[in-house]
Amino acid sequence: MNIYLLLVLVFLAGAWLLETASTLLNLRALSPAVPEEFADVAEAQHYARSQEYARANAKLDMVTETAGTVALAAAVLAGAFPFLDRVVRGMFDHYIPQGLAFFGILALASGVLTVPASVYRTFVLEARFGFNRTTPALFIRDRIKGVLLGVSIGGPLLAGVLWFFATLGEWAWLVAWAFTVVVSLGVQYVAPVLILPLFNTFTPLPEGTLRGAIERYVREQGFSLSGLFVMDGSKRSGKGNAFFTGFGKKKRIALFDTLVETMPEEEVVAVVAHEVGHCRLRHVHRMVAAGVVRTGVTFLLLSFVLQSRPLFDAFGMQHMSLHAGIVFFSLLYTPLALLTGVWANALSRRYEFEADAFAARTTRGAEALASALKRLSVGNLSNLTPHRFHVLLHYSHPPVVERLQRLRAFGPPAAG
Ligand SMILES: [Zn+2]
Repeated sequence: MNIYLLLVLVFLAGAWLLETASTLLNLRALSPAVPEEFADVAEAQHYARSQEYARANAKLDMVTETAGTVALAAAVLAGAFPFLDRVVRGMFDHYIPQGLAFFGILALASGVLTVPASVYRTFVLEARFGFNRTTPALFIRDRIKGVLLGVSIGGPLLAGVLWFFATLGEWAWLVAWAFTVVVSLGVQYVAPVLILPLFNTFTPLPEGTLRGAIERYVREQGFSLSGLFVMDGSKRSGKGNAFFTGFGKKKRIALFDTLVETMPEEEVVAVVAHEVGHCRLRHVHRMVAAGVVRTGVTFLLLSFVLQSRPLFDAFGMQHMSLHAGIVFFSLLYTPLALLTGVWANALSRRYEFEADAFAARTTRGAEALASALKRLSVGNLSNLTPHRFHVLLHYSHPPVVERLQRLRAFGPPAAG
């Protein structure tokens, strides 16, 4: 057997094994005893429900993970890629439309295959636990908008990358890297104004005591904010959240309506303080920089394997098509993707602790943030006792109990 084919199959099986082990360990870590930090807020019955939710999610994750792995391995072994390559070569003469069609058909196939799980998650699982507010019409509209966005951003990006690798020789990876970075920064820059409003309505937070309190805090911090919005998150889900978008002078904070409606004022301010902390501590810039480095390494490695005839032989390819080479590379890249993902999550978790500490320092004490985190976790039925391995692989935020333990070190609020 060709060494590349063997590697790809071993990586696929290995990734499946890791995911399954992580899910099983996570299930085993569910403990019937309410963690100490939550003794005052989580009733036993509600806590049992959060565990039921974790179990239901774990089951669905294992089914989708297994089905996805089997489908991909079957596609590799059955020669789906050379077949598809022949189809697109029959459709077009030029490598760019061939490549776009190749990726388009693959994206369509994976989209169609993942619809059942997505429908089940939204309309059965989330609905069973009282979270779902998405209507079937909204679900379909979201999907259509997602496809149109993918085509309008991914299409030109992919066409550019194919063109560089076909024409620029050994410097192609460098130009492709620069191009991808510019496109993705551009997308992130326009997202708050052009993309996010396609999916949600953002209304300025109305004048009142909450707005006054947030503005006072932001002013105290000497922080400039171009907008403070409420997002209609309740249109899709009952879960609450808050986030930050934009760079430089275009920084905005969006609070989910579900959060504004259920959380006391000082807790919302603490959540905003956490978000301001991310910005102040330059977390956003650092994550972007890390992403840029990661993209560069990926393109450099891609440029090595695109020339490798044995890689194409492994999949039974007649031609060394660029588009197919990119897909084969992504399969070979699995272990590295896993490692960089683990690294990015670890970095993100560290930043979360730092932003929590920032919020505790700049609002009076940590009580309000701790109380907000508890309220969010209880409301969202978060798993309070995830297994460390699962956290390592998947958590961009530290487990809430660890965040509360660190916040406790800040002590009770200072007098006055
Ligand atoms: Zn955060």
